Amino acid sequence: MFDRSIPMIGFHTIIKAHESVDALIRLIEEGLAPNGFNTIILEMRYAFRCFPEYSTGTITYEDAGRIADACEQHGIRLVPLLPCLSHQSAGPRSIPYPLFQAHPELLERQGVVPGTDWPDFVLHSWCASNDDVYQYIFPMIDEMAQACRAQAFHIGMDELFDVAVCPKCRSKAPAELYARTVKLLHDHLAAQGLDTMIWGDRLLDAQKMGYSMWEGDRFGVHPALHRRDEVTRDIIVCDWHYEWHSAGYPSVETLVKEGFFTIPSFWRDEKNAAHFWLHALEAQYLANRHGWAGKLGGMLCTNWRSLDDEAVGNMLASIRGEDADGPGADIGRVIRDMAPKGRKMFEYHSFKTE
Ligand SMILES: [Zn+2]
Repeated sequence: MFDRSIPMIGFHTIIKAHESVDALIRLIEEGLAPNGFNTIILEMRYAFRCFPEYSTGTITYEDAGRIADACEQHGIRLVPLLPCLSHQSAGPRSIPYPLFQAHPELLERQGVVPGTDWPDFVLHSWCASNDDVYQYIFPMIDEMAQACRAQAFHIGMDELFDVAVCPKCRSKAPAELYARTVKLLHDHLAAQGLDTMIWGDRLLDAQKMGYSMWEGDRFGVHPALHRRDEVTRDIIVCDWHYEWHSAGYPSVETLVKEGFFTIPSFWRDEKNAAHFWLHALEAQYLANRHGWAGKLGGMLCTNWRSLDDEAVGNMLASIRGEDADGPGADIGRVIRDMAPKGRKMFEYHSFKTE
């Protein structure tokens, strides 16, 4: 299980290619470990042994093992991520991943014309009423968890737009479909001693909180927050917000109050990240004062470009304080600015006393 007695100082990245593994290990050794990072969430485009024909990239089982070795040497927990339910297509977003090209019946929306793009279409999702998908997804999760020697698994679950649209799902509540999916995946992971992580956006009422349809829900999914028997409070919730919200970030408070180990998650703008963090700390103070069940569990810096040599070089230059430019330089600045704030959490009373 994932140790919650210490604050998580996390880095999330996508990695697609076998050739990029050395770059990630270099980032771990020269950038993340020296700055106190203790968790990496790794969204691998992976070459499955269990279903080679449904591979989404060229990261192999052995590659994941090498990354796990590097992490272990530095006391870093490696958390693999497989996007579940939503995000079943990526760049171009109208073309689903190979599993769903072979099994289009598993998709929630049929007949999307290739090339259709925002604002006509966003992303493919799988059908939350067709459990045939798990004969593929469970072995994929198990293999990635084993390859990474994981204590926790991140199942994504973000930016769900196509829900309750197919004939099987249409009569059901979106919140019910979402919560049921969380429960199925959570219970599969828990049976193997693995903790579950999710992105938090579908649990948030976008209109009420002043968030966009990306970082909060507009499609009837967010009432799932109150389905406690399915969206269980042992789930670790990564609450991502990348924009500047001048009135604060009410989601952190809501999620902590609800009982979640909550991880504010940043992207590429160091000013927005610092602003978000300042507001997130209020949630921790309120939690202590009022005895809320949840906790501000640390922080997560995210990288949404696939990692490669060039990006890692720019990240490391920014982390060293050099005036870097190009892909990754912005992520390096966020790491440079936010890691010290994360390390400071180790001094907090609420973590010290556990
Ligand atoms: Zn459906």
